[in-house]
Amino acid sequence: MSATERLYYQDSRLLEFDARVIGLSELDDGQIAVTLDRTAFYPTGGGQPADTGMLGDARVVDCIDAEDEGVLHVIQGPAPEIGDRVHGTIDWLRRLDHLQQHTGQHILSAAFVQLFDAPTLSFRVLEHECEIDVALVEPTDERIEQAVDRANQIIWQGRPISIRLVTAEEAATLPFRKEPARAGDLRLIEIGDFDLTPCGGTQRTGSDSLHGWSSRARRLSQSKSNRS
Ligand SMILES: [Zn+2]
Repeated sequence: MSATERLYYQDSRLLEFDARVIGLSELDDGQIAVTLDRTAFYPTGGGQPADTGMLGDARVVDCIDAEDEGVLHVIQGPAPEIGDRVHGTIDWLRRLDHLQQHTGQHILSAAFVQLFDAPTLSFRVLEHECEIDVALVEPTDERIEQAVDRANQIIWQGRPISIRLVTAEEAATLPFRKEPARAGDLRLIEIGDFDLTPCGGTQRTGSDSLHGWSSRARRLSQSKSNRS
């Protein structure tokens, strides 16, 4: 079990929280990393970059997933001491951009699977756009546009998006778009009657639409990898 309770698993909208400092360390590059008993900061992983923000009076410039050892918050500025209570604040515009991109990626990846049986091999949430590598046979502009149109339809329909945790036994009975990368209990992202995928990232939830995201899908990068 991780030393840090990951508040972002349950609530992608949580932007402020209080926590206790349980560890301090110096990284190879000399920067200070703070470990907390709980955090809303998302650490880099699963194609999604880390959150930034404030921890007390210090700036959080990066977050590293040290798995069982918890989330390491790389800070610049005054370091707290072990045992201190600290207040954390996430940079919400960056978080909002990441979760829109990530949920949008799920929708577009599902569209490629449903239309062309073309799985997503990898993806990267970047500063302003998301790159998705799709194993699409005949990656013509027309086929890509079809998938983008399908994704945009789903977005405009404003389908509910929910996050839930399931046991390994329950997971074994569910039709996932992609197989889980890990064993044990799973966190699932469900996009109303369209997509069901295991994922640990921050996501847009509720019945909010992703209208702001839809036009970005046209920047989709075309995969060079063709798999039959
Ligand atoms: Zn995901």
